[in-house]
Amino acid sequence: MTLPRLCLLALLLAAPLSAFAQTGDFELVKLAEGVYAATRTEPPGLTVNGNSVFIINDEDVVVVDTTLTPGTAREELAALRRLTDKPVRYVVNTHWHDDHVMGNVAYRDAFPGAEFIAHVNTRGETLEKLLALKHTLIVPGHGPVLRDDSFVRQMSRLFVSMSRQVAAAAARGETLEQARRSVNLDEFRRAFAGDSRVRRQIFDVYVVGAGLAAAYADATAKP
Ligand SMILES: [Zn+2]
Repeated sequence: MTLPRLCLLALLLAAPLSAFAQTGDFELVKLAEGVYAATRTEPPGLTVNGNSVFIINDEDVVVVDTTLTPGTAREELAALRRLTDKPVRYVVNTHWHDDHVMGNVAYRDAFPGAEFIAHVNTRGETLEKLLALKHTLIVPGHGPVLRDDSFVRQMSRLFVSMSRQVAAAAARGETLEQARRSVNLDEFRRAFAGDSRVRRQIFDVYVVGAGLAAAYADATAKP
């Protein structure tokens, strides 16, 4: 099974949503037969925690993302154990942020034979491919399960705008620090973070910080 297929399986399945169980700081939502999202319910703060998806196959289980800590991953694994005793065979890490991968060790300890899968290309083009699929549900990295794609379209517009602006800045010979000042993402900061100070800080750390640096590295990469 290819990585995009693995990643997007959960997006393709249609089903009425029902909160299946609430344990600790997450809610287990049944998306389809054998497919569950563990959506985190901690309020955003200095740290945030990420959602996971469990896909229970005939022989084994695929887990997508493993939360911020081994402890919360073990809580989710205990919930998975109440659904099935099949072994976890694959763990997909959608991207490198710690709130999605730090629980990997819990699955490594419990299933030494599990394979961990990630992909180098997790940015703009991936979102466009995702939008081209006829999905009915989207499990975002954070927050409740989505029924429409407006959030993903907004993310895609952000990546496209940032890439274009950063490429133009690099073409003008600007350094990364100069590009951070000349690139204007205010419209997106407003849309994603609103008036929340915490969300604005998260936007600045992950988008204006790490995201813009990655776009700058792409724009200035030697062919
Ligand atoms: Zn995250």
